[in-house]
Amino acid sequence: MASISLKDVNKVYPNGVHAVIDFNMEIADQEFIIFVGPSGCGKTTTLRMIAGLEDITSGELRIDGKYMNDVEPKDRDIAMVFQNYALYPHLTVYDNMAFGLKLHKVPRKEIDRAVREAARILDLTELLNRKPKALSGGQKQRVAMGRAIVRKPKVFLMDEPLSNLDAKLRVQMRAEIAKLHQRLGTTIIYVTHDQTEAMTLGTRIVVMKDGVVQQIDSPQNLYEKPCNLFVAGFMGSPQMNFLDATVRISGARAFLELEGQSIPLPEEKAKPLIDGEWDGRSVILGIRPEDIFEKKESFAFGNQGFDFQVTCDVYELLGAEVFLYFELGSSAVTARVESDTRVRPGDKLTVSFDIDKIHIFDKDTEEAIAN
Ligand code: ATP
Repeated sequence: MASISLKDVNKVYPNGVHAVIDFNMEIADQEFIIFVGPSGCGKTTTLRMIAGLEDITSGELRIDGKYMNDVEPKDRDIAMVFQNYALYPHLTVYDNMAFGLKLHKVPRKEIDRAVREAARILDLTELLNRKPKALSGGQKQRVAMGRAIVRKPKVFLMDEPLSNLDAKLRVQMRAEIAKLHQRLGTTIIYVTHDQTEAMTLGTRIVVMKDGVVQQIDSPQNLYEKPCNLFVAGFMGSPQMNFLDATVRISGARAFLELEGQSIPLPEEKAKPLIDGEWDGRSVILGIRPEDIFEKKESFAFGNQGFDFQVTCDVYELLGAEVFLYFELGSSAVTARVESDTRVRPGDKLTVSFDIDKIHIFDKDTEEAIAN
């Protein structure tokens, strides 16, 4: 078990790439931290610096308060699980799991106890005598996890551990990892491209872009209160819709002008615009697909809604829900509506925006003004 502290951590590779810029974070014992961000944003580099596989150019890494920058990887008490789990093909599952402990000259009895305990936790007991080629992808992945947990490390680092698995196995292994975390209580840092993994596994998510941390927050806060346009667009699928709008302030009220209409804003969204003297300035309105409703005859909206007449371009049925795509002014917009919708491509419909759920961003800085 371990806390991890990163202070002003930077990585500049010998070729001059500044891969990680002023990374600051305090990770508490037993947290499950997720790193997300587009390819090349510095997730793996940060993980490798924590593991000791990559030098830290400047800044400080501490584990349980102890300065770690110069400590050898093998002395950091960290286990890393990669996406290519690289099991030894000529060794059995048992020997693959025992391998690291044998290298560390752990007594045979202790090794046996640790391997059998890990096998029990990961449901591998029946497979201990098999060679990797006789295992499914998910079983191989569990052996790779087993190899890491027998060492009882303080910290687990996982770099896209499930990316080689098919969709069904990913879901199964995701649940396994969540259980493993609850059972072992080890601090975990986990890199993924998968939104669902990030949202469901993480106690906190770190969103990175171009080597810079954009926001560190709980999954719910990231989704509901993104700090800028990038985070808002990155978290959520289909992604948040963005529309150009102009602010109008009249006395104690604020409006967003959009496609010839003037949307009155609820008080808490209006306040930062009034306080910041935003009258006449350009902003970006953000609204998630699930906050746009198809207005049917029986439609009753509890919250403040605002309507637009649009024409459906594309209809996508995903079983329990439907995505409707349409244009609003010059922007393409997606709405997630109920699966019983009768709307099909070419049909006209009225959509209603839930104004309580909109986000407003500064068009120049792209920072959030109201969430
Ligand atoms: P991905 O999601 O594609 O794995 P990532 O977020 O993990 O990406 P990193 O692998 O950390 O990104 O790379 C960050 C930046 O550093 C990229 O611009 C990459 O090209 C560069 N980089 C990574 N490793 C090296 C290296 N050994 N030498 C030079 N530049 C590197």
